[in-house]
Amino acid sequence: MTVVKTKIHKGDQVMVVSGKEAGKSGKVLRIDAEKRRLVIERLNLIRKHTKPNPKKNPQGGVIERESPIDISNVMLMCPACGQPTRVGYRLLGDGDKVRICRRANCGKDIDKV
Ligand SMILES: [Zn+2]
Repeated sequence: MTVVKTKIHKGDQVMVVSGKEAGKSGKVLRIDAEKRRLVIERLNLIRKHTKPNPKKNPQGGVIERESPIDISNVMLMCPACGQPTRVGYRLLGDGDKVRICRRANCGKDIDKV
């Protein structure tokens, strides 16, 4: 199995920059790196009709759940400056990489990759 790398990681705080949820932000719950899509907590909700399930949901009916958003439609919220930013990388001497904020007035390290 090949690991596809994404600039956005699970647990990141991101802002949606296009589509119907543009301007909203939330936490990344899941990433499908191969399809370049991710799921954000309480964003891009779809109403899903379910059949009754005796264990989880005896009534059945309509539930809301998150549907995936294209990774290119979101930007990382930088923990240092609190602004949506593109992600850059900085190489450390030992070969490790650090994600950095690419805003000109910030440029802080975000975390180790
Ligand atoms: Zn920043």
